[in-house]
Amino acid sequence: MALKLAMNGSLALRKLNRYLRKNVKDQSSSILRLWATQCEFVFAQQLRRSQQILTHYAKIWEERALRELLRRVRGQVQRHAKGFLLSSATLLSFDWERERIELESVQEHMDDFQFLERLQQETIYCRKCEKRKQIDSRVEGVSYCCCPKNVTEMLSAERNAYTVWEPYIEQPRMITWRQEVKPGLYAYKVYVEYPDVTAEDFLHVQIDVEYRKKWDNTAVNLEIIDEDTSKGSHSHVIYWEALWPKLFANRDYVYNRRYFVDRQRRVIMIVNKSIEHPKCPAKPHTQRVHEYWSYMVIKPTTTFNKPGVSFVLTYFDNPGLSIPKYITTWVAKKQMPDFLNQLHQATLNYAKAKKQNETRIIEFWDKHKDPGFEYPPDTLLGYSVEDFSEAQKEEESSLQKVVEKKLKFWRYILFKIK
Ligand SMILES: [Zn+2]
Repeated sequence: MALKLAMNGSLALRKLNRYLRKNVKDQSSSILRLWATQCEFVFAQQLRRSQQILTHYAKIWEERALRELLRRVRGQVQRHAKGFLLSSATLLSFDWERERIELESVQEHMDDFQFLERLQQETIYCRKCEKRKQIDSRVEGVSYCCCPKNVTEMLSAERNAYTVWEPYIEQPRMITWRQEVKPGLYAYKVYVEYPDVTAEDFLHVQIDVEYRKKWDNTAVNLEIIDEDTSKGSHSHVIYWEALWPKLFANRDYVYNRRYFVDRQRRVIMIVNKSIEHPKCPAKPHTQRVHEYWSYMVIKPTTTFNKPGVSFVLTYFDNPGLSIPKYITTWVAKKQMPDFLNQLHQATLNYAKAKKQNETRIIEFWDKHKDPGFEYPPDTLLGYSVEDFSEAQKEEESSLQKVVEKKLKFWRYILFKIK
């Protein structure tokens, strides 16, 4: 608009100038000649002067108009550029204060192991004979219930927070439940035991994106695109493109990941939640998964740095569109167990490499080393070496208590059997 006005203004000035030149300058010479012959010299001089002034001002006005026009254009361009830079900066920034996964919102999952105990009792143990019910197949070393089927079904008919989870797959050291969250879409709960890896190594392998690119062949792309720099946050935004079977578009995820370490209760929790990030808009050739969340609660059998770990992983993702049932089944029955097996192997390999002092891994671990107090994260502010050793002592003594409790329990059981 301003540009248009300025252009109109300069056009009008140019017209005026042309008019002055034509009507004053050109005609004035003939009049001057006439007047000169009539010896009206002074007046002629004055007129010439006025004419000069007029054309001079006309020129100045034109120049000024041009300058004004340029100034306005420049101002507009600058304003636009500034606005553009400003808007792209706001667009690309990510508000960690608002988006960080807060402990309060996920705390209930810290108790997933208690939940699991009840879940097992309610769903996979026969109430009559107290043996394991068969899920989809028999696993060696597990003693299964032989009660008549109608008896076990009748006994587990009651619907509650536990029985909504349907036992789904059993493999050695792994049991999966599922729960229909939306029509045809399931949340899964997986319980896994690895007797030969440490919780510390397991956590490391979970969060080391560069390493995962090496061992997880379904990760087509995996990048950390944002990191929360506030102390003790351990929060990242991750872009992940997962390989899907032929004829399907690969699925990609942008998710917020945070992990918590609770040394006192000896629990680690990794939380993933899908999120929007300005750096990662949806791509044309992949199917963006907008609904994804997972909670992995890791518990060492003894301490964080001794072999023996189990975890409960609860997750949900909505792969979008209507996915044929065989694909959903494939993801749950094949892809997930395969992934967990790879994860297990990767952790073993990592532990081996760590022993051989592979510098990159050590450096990474030093950078992300658990400083002792991360739960609640605020206590990090007062972190000191003394606190750390104190916490370790506490951990050992509480561990001792657990061992004593277990011994007591077994003594009691033995006593009863006798
Ligand atoms: Zn039974």
